Amino acid sequence: MLDFFTIFSKGGLVLWCFQGVRGPAVTAPVNALIRSVLLQERGGNNSFTHEALTLKYKLDNQFELVFVVGFQKILTLTYVDKLIDDVHKEFRDKYRNEFQQKGALGLLNGTFDFKDDFMRLLRDAEESSKVRAPTVMKTFEQSLKSQKTVKCMIETRGEKPKEKVKNKKNKGSKKDGTEAVAVPSKASAADKQLSAAGDKEELTKDEILQKNREEFFRRHMKAGEKSRSPKPDAQKEKGKKPRVWDLGNSNAKVLDYSNSATNGSAEACPVEEFDPDMALGDKNREPGRLYDLEYESDDEAEEEKVVQNPSKPSVKKGGLGGMFGMLKGLVGSKSLTRDDMDPVLEKMKDHLIAKNVAAEIAVQLCESVAKKLEGKVMGTFTTVTSTVKQALQEALVQILQPQRRVDVLRDVMDAQRHRRPYVVTFCGVNGVGKSTNLAKISFWLIENGFSVLIAACDTFRAGAVEQLRTHTRRLNALHPPESHGGRTMVQLYEKGYGKDAAGIAMEAISYARNQGFDVVLVDTAGRMQDNAPLMTALAKLIAVNAPDLVLFVGEALVGNEAVDQLVKFNKALADHSMAQTPRLIDGIVLTKFDTIDDKVGAAISMTYITSKPIVFVGTGQTYCDLRSLNAKAVVAALMKA
Ligand code: GDP
Repeated sequence: MLDFFTIFSKGGLVLWCFQGVRGPAVTAPVNALIRSVLLQERGGNNSFTHEALTLKYKLDNQFELVFVVGFQKILTLTYVDKLIDDVHKEFRDKYRNEFQQKGALGLLNGTFDFKDDFMRLLRDAEESSKVRAPTVMKTFEQSLKSQKTVKCMIETRGEKPKEKVKNKKNKGSKKDGTEAVAVPSKASAADKQLSAAGDKEELTKDEILQKNREEFFRRHMKAGEKSRSPKPDAQKEKGKKPRVWDLGNSNAKVLDYSNSATNGSAEACPVEEFDPDMALGDKNREPGRLYDLEYESDDEAEEEKVVQNPSKPSVKKGGLGGMFGMLKGLVGSKSLTRDDMDPVLEKMKDHLIAKNVAAEIAVQLCESVAKKLEGKVMGTFTTVTSTVKQALQEALVQILQPQRRVDVLRDVMDAQRHRRPYVVTFCGVNGVGKSTNLAKISFWLIENGFSVLIAACDTFRAGAVEQLRTHTRRLNALHPPESHGGRTMVQLYEKGYGKDAAGIAMEAISYARNQGFDVVLVDTAGRMQDNAPLMTALAKLIAVNAPDLVLFVGEALVGNEAVDQLVKFNKALADHSMAQTPRLIDGIVLTKFDTIDDKVGAAISMTYITSKPIVFVGTGQTYCDLRSLNAKAVVAALMKA
């Protein structure tokens, strides 16, 4: 039944491997697990799917070992968890001395003759699952229902059925707090087992199953309700807000677009319309450079510093209380247990949620850190808090660092060599800053010497084309053809409103190819992630035009909502695409980063959920307010107390 079972060290040394009869090559799925889960700090749930296989794994942090079992995902193997635990225990106990005395050398030179033990454990596990397996269907007479009288099944008005009353009680007790999505604690698991054992005396297996199923649905419904958390005030007002530009003014002339019905032509911008200095923002910057996000991390975590420096013990309080207080946190040469970590993790989870990380993701992150640390031997003079914090910090940096780096300038040059324009599509809901950030990216590309054609494919929202036209004029005024050897650096391609966006994008791309533009930036209409017809249209636009880069534009202001948008956009692109391998989102533009202070959690949520990189960060309303993501800066902001 199993395809394979392998044991390897975290350093990558395969110690032992069992391969089933039908088993495919072990390497590809295990490599995928290492790349996508273990290295990406997504180890929250111990299970991973790769093509037709399900992989389950367990980490031994004390000896730095990984145990992985692979089986066909269509199978429901109930014994796998037990098997992996048993193998872990037996393997570790059998070779404990080898690991302890010889360390890494023990792994290199060790001979791990484990086949017989493994086969025995596998047999035992299979047997134990069979013992419990088929339940004989009971007759009606045997069921509890047959013993009920008709009378007791009638519900009288005003009298609530017992089951419902019980549910209500449960709801009340869980009312506040986010525990609904939290990982069940050991205590609660034990409670459940106990109560299940108690129930067994009266209930049959089928009824227990039914009860559990109901419980499961109830919990999921609750979790679903909770994840739809109330939106922040800023989000309440959906739709387009009137935009007030720092660099603009509100006189009627500026707002009058009636005489500007150009079609794809670039016009010089009247000088009185905007102040170029204000449009540019920072005057001291290096033109064309995409600066990293900056963040000043403050010197917090003083308690950790004190403990890490054993020469200066903090025995300020004096007396035994202070002394014990200090020693309490020290776990020198002791291996970390779940109980040690739980209080710290709980605090970390709340901290992450307070920083706008989506609740479910905060739970998974903490779970992943716990799995990584459990059993690990801590150094002397290290607190549990600092160990957990450091592991979490590393995990967060890892998550923010993309598996695939997007280097737009390099890719544009590559497209140039192939004599074709590099095409970027922007998508997202309304008002998140698609057009504004598209203009900023145009500006950055122009400063790097690339010409840009902006394709106005938002043919839906009134004013969308005019908004892009204004940007085009301003960009042209900042970079007139005279300063680029007579070359028009930015132009708008538009066909007005109500037309098919996919068609306009296609025309724009071929126009750009003929006119020698380096980049085409396709603006699309804002749409809600749940709007099926509009999502189909977007999938079509992407499928037909095959852009080099599909960027999802999302606001940093939102937590759970941003994750919902991103997941649904990706899913809709997959669902509505006609292609066999649908084209999904390649990267993220995180906007309005300047408005969130240190509540930077959306950055973590978005990258965690999609594994896609944040390519650009919008940090304001001028053309220079564009940054690249600096993972360390974001994590510093996130960890700040
Ligand atoms: P679209 O509907 O997605 O195209 O959104 P717009 O580009 O029209 O932007 C909506 C509003 O957000 C405008 O008022 C922009 O000036 C503002 N905006 C866009 N990006 C940023 C940003 O990075 N920081 C701030 N503070 N505001 C931004």
